[in-house]
Amino acid sequence: MKKKYLYILGLFLIIGIISILLTHHHKILKDKIITDTYQDNHIIMGISYPKTNTKLDKEISNYITSQIHYFKSNYGDSDYLVDRDELNIDYQYKIYHNRYISLVFTTYINSYKLNQPIYEVQSYFYDAKKDKFLSLTDLLEEQEQISLYQYIKNDLENNYYNYIIVENLDSIISLSNLKSLPFYIDNKNINIYFTPDHLVSDYYDILEIKISREKIPIKKIKLESKSNELEMKEINTASNIIDPSKKVVALTFDDGPSCYTKEIIKILKEYDVNATFFILGNKVETYQEVLLESIQNGNELGNHSYNHKWLSRLSTKNLINQIESTQKITKEKLNYEPEFLRPTYGSVTNRIRNNTNLKIVLWTVDTKDWKIKNVDRIVEKATTNIEDEDIILMHDIFERTSLALKKIIPILKEQGFQFVTLSELEEIKLLRTRIG
Ligand code: ZN
Repeated sequence: MKKKYLYILGLFLIIGIISILLTHHHKILKDKIITDTYQDNHIIMGISYPKTNTKLDKEISNYITSQIHYFKSNYGDSDYLVDRDELNIDYQYKIYHNRYISLVFTTYINSYKLNQPIYEVQSYFYDAKKDKFLSLTDLLEEQEQISLYQYIKNDLENNYYNYIIVENLDSIISLSNLKSLPFYIDNKNINIYFTPDHLVSDYYDILEIKISREKIPIKKIKLESKSNELEMKEINTASNIIDPSKKVVALTFDDGPSCYTKEIIKILKEYDVNATFFILGNKVETYQEVLLESIQNGNELGNHSYNHKWLSRLSTKNLINQIESTQKITKEKLNYEPEFLRPTYGSVTNRIRNNTNLKIVLWTVDTKDWKIKNVDRIVEKATTNIEDEDIILMHDIFERTSLALKKIIPILKEQGFQFVTLSELEEIKLLRTRIG
């Protein structure tokens, strides 16, 4: 008898494990964003996208691949470094009820061959449970469609009349083309996008129209409106005691945060050292928790633009926007205001200097961890001929960087270095000039 019970128990256990595995399979992971940056003598690329662990990933990958292919086959033939062609892909995405994903990509191409940059928008609304892609009209009831159409039309007429040819309005927005409009749904708004080919010839940016969800509630799919804000904690930055008569070095990490940042701040903590992270604004919300932990451990955050556009090539307005939107989101989500700016691709112009109050800092040692795939060669770059007050550049978006870091810290400690953040480095330099 007892044996029979054991069999039944075992059977339940197996069913249990299988169902856990199955539900796990459907789980949407939201804490992974990839940022790829690349540069050579002809092109510069900065590409950010989420990894959702659903079939949407295949669409994302196809989209990115085709954009890169288009870019590489049409651009990248300048022989002057300052004239390199640029591809930038950024995204916004939200997951609702662990089931629906709203995602929008904006692609930007800038080239010496173009009078104005090219902008393109591509959106997805994916139902992971049914494995179906939904359009705006799938999501809205008929009455909601009619009111949305009215709101968009009124907004274009009243606020964007400079950018549209009023006679063409019906071809830009109608009830029947609602289905094909790129859109993104966040907690507050339905966002609709128009690209420059919809608009008059002297408007070059993407035109974004926001319709409040209080006006269009989207009855078919009740979207969550809860804001998953983390409790703002009082931040006590731990400060190490630094001896100004001994050598110092500053470790800096660009392009993050990413899924490797957690490991990197863990390693730093294990060795009781601090570093500076130059972050991208578009990743702050997703990695809010790990960033808060990083700050609490005493690390410093710097501004590395919002989505890694090549700052020195942007218009003044867009340049300021890249810097300020990152300041704004770090203030909002982390209650933290970066003091330092590291312009993307290390290129600094007077226009950047003149349009920010942040202190601009580059580096003195490049580990080339974005190019070198071998851990020991990265370690060698980061530990050979290092001098007092050096600033070492790494990227917290690669596993190999975290593996290298484990070896780099003890070697530099052995060489007599103390590790400082960039603010601490600044203080030390000041102190040393005072001491003389
Ligand atoms: Zn970068």
